[in-house]
Amino acid sequence: MKIHEHQAMEIFAQYGLPVSGFDVATSPADARAAAERRGGSVVVKAQVHVGGRGKAGGVKLARDADEAERYAESILGMDIKGLTVEKIVVAEAVDIDREYYIGIVVDRATKKPVYMVSSEGGVDIEEVARETPEKIHKHSIDPERGLSDVEAAELAAKIESDPRVAAQVADAILRLYAAFVGSDASLAEINPLVVTADGIVRAIDAKMNIDDNALYRHEDIAAMRDASTETVELTKARELGLSFVKLDGNVGCLVNGAGLAMTTMDLIKQHGGEPANFLDIGGSSNPEKVAIALEIITSDPKVRSILINIFGGITRCDDVARGLAHALERTASDVPIVVRLTGTNEEEARRVLAEHDLVTADTMDEAVEKAVVLAGRDS
Ligand code: GDP
Ligand code: MN
Repeated sequence: MKIHEHQAMEIFAQYGLPVSGFDVATSPADARAAAERRGGSVVVKAQVHVGGRGKAGGVKLARDADEAERYAESILGMDIKGLTVEKIVVAEAVDIDREYYIGIVVDRATKKPVYMVSSEGGVDIEEVARETPEKIHKHSIDPERGLSDVEAAELAAKIESDPRVAAQVADAILRLYAAFVGSDASLAEINPLVVTADGIVRAIDAKMNIDDNALYRHEDIAAMRDASTETVELTKARELGLSFVKLDGNVGCLVNGAGLAMTTMDLIKQHGGEPANFLDIGGSSNPEKVAIALEIITSDPKVRSILINIFGGITRCDDVARGLAHALERTASDVPIVVRLTGTNEEEARRVLAEHDLVTADTMDEAVEKAVVLAGRDS
């Protein structure tokens, strides 16, 4: 789950990172009041879940409350990469001398968190990684042992030569790691971590992604979810406990079990098709879930055929069939549906579906082939 900058800032502050004072505002008047409270010079920052917001005009330095109000007016309601800005942060401005990057991600290859630090902060770090990879220093962390003071000091020394400043950088490096572990984050990043003209280190940007599977033990973070930044379909799917990932193809998939869903997607590709989504309805057999799942798939205008692939173990095929029948009565979609149901109560499932206009298949291969052909057909 992605959280907003101001939410990550709050977490960072709890871990003692040197973040600037800030307020969250939703109107220009609020922004003015915040700027007045904070003594005039502030940064006005759009709160949207996208990178490169500064470049898009979503970060403005205001000299006084008047300017803060005007910037707030132009940033609120702004469209940044398809997302509308509804909230802004008004933060105390900092006098910047130099900008660094520090960040931690989980590295799949080593199965460990990896720390990355760079003296090239403030800019797009992916670009630095592409063009001057030698400027990013990486350090793999043993999750059992954690990050030692010595390791943090060594990392800090790679980007900062003044020992008094480097000690503050090392401290920030340790605290960011503590925030990363303590929040079950998959990514924690400060870009830029700045050094002010008088040698003080400050975190002026914050980014954190939290591992969805750990949210159950972080009620406070789970409550940070901003449903306005996800599609209606995704919210519905999540609330029902469906795993749904939207993709770019035109064959909609409704499958039970993550393994079968992955296999189905592989087979679609093998037959020359492109899946429109990954959708695992899970192990339960709840007709309402099936109906909603079908609605989510048919709401994607790119979908040209739907493949329903159910293996009835604990999930009963007749329950899925009833959900499907229920959904078909509710939706006006004329997208062709190919069904392959096998396992527990499959005969009953066939009876339930007999009166509906569906394409059936006995094997998975046959079902996939039919769905791909139907999706590719001119209509
Ligand atoms: P991002 O572009 O979305 O990553 O937004 P950031 O919060 O990182 O801000 C982008 C850039 O704006 C920073 O790299 C700084 O150069 C500049 N900036 C942000 N806050 C301040 C500030 O308080 N003072 C000054 N002088 N510049 C700032
Ligand atoms: Mn940034």
